[in-house]
Parts: sequence; C-alpha cells; structure tokens
Amino acid sequence: MAERIEAPGYARQVLEALEQGGCEAWFVGGCVRDSLMGRAPVDWDIAAGPGPVAIERALAGRYTLIRTGEKHGTVTALSAGRPVEITAFRAETGYADHRHPDAVRFVDRLDEDLARRDFTVNALAYHPRRGLVDRFGGQADLAAGVLRCVGDPGRRFAEDALRILRGLRFAACLGFSLEAQTARAAVENRELLREISRERVLGELEKLLCAPHAAQVLDAFPSVLFTVLPELSPMEHCTQEHPCHRGTVWQHTLWVLEAAPAEPVLRWAALLHDCGKPGTKTRGPDGIAHFYGHAAESEALAREICSGLRMSGREADRVCALVRCHGEVLPMAPKRVKKLLARLGEEDFFGLLELIRADWTGQATGLLEERLPALEETRRRAEDLLAQGACLGLGDLAVNGDDLLELGFAPGPGLGRALDRLLEAVLEDRLPNRRAALLEEARTLLGTGP
Ligand code: ATP
Ligand code: MG
Repeated sequence: MAERIEAPGYARQVLEALEQGGCEAWFVGGCVRDSLMGRAPVDWDIAAGPGPVAIERALAGRYTLIRTGEKHGTVTALSAGRPVEITAFRAETGYADHRHPDAVRFVDRLDEDLARRDFTVNALAYHPRRGLVDRFGGQADLAAGVLRCVGDPGRRFAEDALRILRGLRFAACLGFSLEAQTARAAVENRELLREISRERVLGELEKLLCAPHAAQVLDAFPSVLFTVLPELSPMEHCTQEHPCHRGTVWQHTLWVLEAAPAEPVLRWAALLHDCGKPGTKTRGPDGIAHFYGHAAESEALAREICSGLRMSGREADRVCALVRCHGEVLPMAPKRVKKLLARLGEEDFFGLLELIRADWTGQATGLLEERLPALEETRRRAEDLLAQGACLGLGDLAVNGDDLLELGFAPGPGLGRALDRLLEAVLEDRLPNRRAALLEEARTLLGTGP
C-alpha cells in the first residue's frame, strides 16, 4: 500500500532538512490517510522529535517559519511558498474541560504521538525511506471503511468532545461508518459537546454539511446534531399529512440536503429551510396538515441558530435570505425575478433555484418532473435580464448621489433613501432607468418638482 504515497518535493525537502538537523521526522495524519485512499491530500503535515527547540534549530535559516502554535509545539515552514506544518511529538494529559489538554508533554517517540491522535485512520505515519507505521490497525480500518477511536472511545470523546463531530465529519467526507463502540460512545458522550466553543462546532458542522455523505451520517446520528442545534429537534417527529409530502420534516430535510449543491450557504439553507415547520403546523378539517407562514418562521429560527454559532454576518444573511425565499412560486413573474436578483445577487439567485429544485426532489415522487419547466423558465428570465444589462442595483442606476446633491439634496441618510426609492421604482417597472425620468422623480421627492 505504501508505494501509493508520493509526497511532493516541497514537503519532502522540509522532512529532509529536519533529519539533516538531527530530528526524526514523519508525514502524519490526513496526508497519509488520503494518499492510501488514492485521494490527493490537501496539506502535508509532519510530526517530528525530539521537541520544538530541535525542530526550530533544524529549520532556522533555511525556511521562513511562522510560529502558529508554539504552546503546542507547532511551527509552519514556508517551502517553495507553500506551508508545511511541523508538530513536535507530544502526549497530552488531563482534559478537565473536555476540550483542551491540561498539559502538553513533548515526547521522544513517534508511537506516543500516534497514540494521542483521534482515529486509527488518522494515526498513520509515513517516511519515504522507512515506510509506513501503523500501530493501531489504521490500514485495516481504511480498507473496511471504518472510523475507530485510538484507544477507548468513551475516554477519548470525554477528553475532547469535538472528536465526536470530527468522527461524523470524517464519516461524511470519506463515506465511512463509525465502528460500533465508537458510535455508541459518540452518542453517549454527546452532551459534552455543549462545552465546546461555538466557533469550533461551526467549523466542523460546516465541513460535515458539505461532505458527500452528510445526509446518511445525520440520519444515523440525529441526536448528536440535535445536541448542538436543539432548535432543530422538533423536526424529527413532525409528520406532514399532505399529498405533496412523504415522510417527516426531518426526513424531507435530509433529502433536500443531499440534493442541494455541496456549498456552505446552500447546505445551511437546506438544513434550515423548514426548521420553522413544527411551530406552524395546523390541521385542516380534511386532515391535511398546513404550515402557513413557515418560511418566515424558519428564517427567524435560522437567524438565531446562525448567530448562536457565531457565523459571519454576511454568511448568515445569505443563508437566511435563501430560507426566507425557498417557497417562492415558480415561474416567477419578470418583476419578481428582477427584485430577487437585486436583493439576493446573481450567485444566490441561481443558488435559490438550486435550493428549490432540491426541495422538490425531497417532496412526493413525480412532482419534480412536473415542475421543472417552471424553474427553467425562471432561470431563462434571469439570464435574459442579466444579458440585457438590466438595472439591478444602485451601481446600475442612471443617476448617482452626486446628481442628487446637485439637485439640492443634503448629504446624509435622506439622500441614500431617495436613491433607494428610485431603484425600487426602476425594479418595479414604475420608472425607466433613464436619467431624465429619474431626475424628475428625484425633484418630486425633494419637493421642488413640478
Ligand atoms: P483534513 O485536514 O483533511 O480535514 P486531517 O486528518 O489532516 O484532515 P486535521 O484537523 O488537519 O485533520 O488534523 C491533523 C491530524 O491531527 C489528524 O489527522 C489527527 O491525527 C490529529 N488531530 C487533529 N485534531 C485532533 C483532536 N481533536 N484529537 C486528536 N487528534 C487530532
Ligand atoms: Mg489537515
């Protein structure tokens, strides 16, 4: 198997420099795992001994060093402009807070370093001459498609609960399953995830959501997701007695997630698009379930979830806008297309169409085929508007702030509001995007018009 590992020159040079400087150095973790799976590794991490001082000494003068995590014995070397992370062999002891080791101890032996790593498939080391080191059966687990903790899973998850989410994330990325004891311990220890910083949870969740097998993994471990996002748990048992639907809101959500393009904003929107349904469910006299106003309710809940996870304001806005618009009726009238193109921007407008398509995929069979022409019609309308160079934002407007100042507007928010109103009028086809017409309307707004 080891022959398949082909480390790039820039990373091998760093490994060689370490060894020439008297260190013992190995490629470890993701690069070895991915190479053995026949995938191209993202980055080539090195573990080296005997400690950070020796590592620094071996590399100083030969590489630009970025001291990224000195406390943990990690330094990044820039080799041919590319970063290579070197971490000193270390062992970790005591995890009182379930997320950080109380003490990091630098050790001399690779074996001890491998023992602190999370999963057997991540605890493999490789050296171009000395070959592969596999102390915990990582190769067999790779071949079987299994994620197994190094050591006792309950203890490892209690040490650092983020490993639970990492396990789900790797399963979703690699298409692996969690080995039975690892799976049981993940569920049993899930409450410890509440101690993990929201930013780290967000990072792992986002990678999980964008992975090819995200839906299967969330289907297998709903309780883990609902521990970090309790707002979503009412979806699990929320049935939908409606001819357009099959399954619960949660099942539908997973189908939509699977069908949505693997891009963070769209996958978040897919996960959250119906989260307001349980709170809006009513039953008609005919027994049919209705969820009136659920898009607005989902948007409000999505807003709370995104801010709770400390998502960036920009990403949260994009996710929430898509959630809000997921129930748009298609084909959209040309005016509506223009308005939404202006509000969402080109990328997210077409993203919305993808989300709607995914939503239909997750509804009753046959619906998608029936409705696709309306979606294509809407897409064409948007493409035509863009091709015509239609006015979709303040930048496209035939007048600007300077023009309004010349008319006598005072600088400040009033001027901004006037521009917004002009844009609104153009978007709604009440005014053509022409200078004369807009200036006339601006004069009216200012109160000096005819
Ligand atoms: P990728 O970078 O493709 O997501 P990776 O395996 O390189 O995968 P990283 O998060 O970059 O994952 O971590 C590098 C290595 O460090 C892992 O392979 C694992 O051996 C170890 N590791 C990272 N985080 C932990 C953790 N919380 N507990 C134990 N070991 C960890
Ligand atoms: Mg990595």
